Amino acid sequence: MEALLGKTLAELQTIAIEAGLPRFVGKQLCEWIYRHRVTSFDEMSNISVKARQTLQEKYAIGRIKPTAEAVSVDGTRKYLFPVIVERDQSKVESQQVECVWLPEEDRTTLCVSTQAGCKMGCKFCMTGTLGFHGNLTTDAILAQVLYFPDLTNLVLMGEGEPMDNIDNVLRALNVLTSEWGLGWSPKRITVSTVGILQKSGVSALQRFLNETDCHLAISLHNAYPAERAAIMPAQKLTPVEEVLDIVRQYDWTHQRRLSFEYICWSGVNDDTSHAKQLIRLVQGLPCRVNLIRFHQTGDAERSMTAPQKEQRPTFPASDEQRMVAFRDYLSEHCVTCTIRKSRGEDILAACGMLVNALA
Ligand code: SF4
Repeated sequence: MEALLGKTLAELQTIAIEAGLPRFVGKQLCEWIYRHRVTSFDEMSNISVKARQTLQEKYAIGRIKPTAEAVSVDGTRKYLFPVIVERDQSKVESQQVECVWLPEEDRTTLCVSTQAGCKMGCKFCMTGTLGFHGNLTTDAILAQVLYFPDLTNLVLMGEGEPMDNIDNVLRALNVLTSEWGLGWSPKRITVSTVGILQKSGVSALQRFLNETDCHLAISLHNAYPAERAAIMPAQKLTPVEEVLDIVRQYDWTHQRRLSFEYICWSGVNDDTSHAKQLIRLVQGLPCRVNLIRFHQTGDAERSMTAPQKEQRPTFPASDEQRMVAFRDYLSEHCVTCTIRKSRGEDILAACGMLVNALA
């Protein structure tokens, strides 16, 4: 059954008219679904019982509940959601994805999934070892957000590459940031990507930059192209230099934030040479670099299958001292740099660890 969640105001008005109902019922639906966050038609008290019955014959609200939850010692929570995904254009399948709820003193962030699994195959990422199981529909992306009443920030950094599901991601961002929708400020939403993907016509990244005001985070991890290609196959299709050509053409003066994600491996990408190359690459861009510790814990490895273990890099994570030195070198050369705190590592909820282990 088709979900109403994810539809625009105009689409809901069309649905009302096609069901033989007045156009204003579309506005009422919009308010019930996005403002009042109802989970059933029964709660729509200003829409007649007959009209609700007519709509229910063809549509569902589209809200979903998690089937499992894990709680970290640091308060982070990971949830497993049953979702409908699209594959091979029209095929629709049931899959599962994880999302992560991250409470902090001054904010509560949700790390949202946009695909079940991922086809990018980054060697350091456990999600990449799952392979690709489908694009989340717009309602499945939004249902993760709507389950949590207390969010202040969203990061689309869960399972999947958002630019590879750009149509549904843009639709979800439209609902999230429209006044008739969930009314989020785009400045509280960050979308992560390994880079643009070769699509016909306008690239996914260009569409994201043109059609939204949300922040952009680029997964970089190594500024030397050959070394990046060795851990991120996407580099071979879309060199990060090409990604930055597009990013450089964009006007970043309107409080829209650009950041680079950089996982640090000891003796691999955390020395002065790599810092210098990184500085050269981002030169002139108003950006921030976020250093991330590589998550390689015994517990995490134990829950992986043999092929997943094979795909993981064997090089060790950088220690705190090397990360601090790398950060300081960048800062001294006028590149804003922070070390991101790891969260939820004990429940496989930290960066690059989502493998539907709750399933
Ligand atoms: S890092 Fe992101 S793009 Fe790369 S495999 Fe993992 S989920 Fe996919």
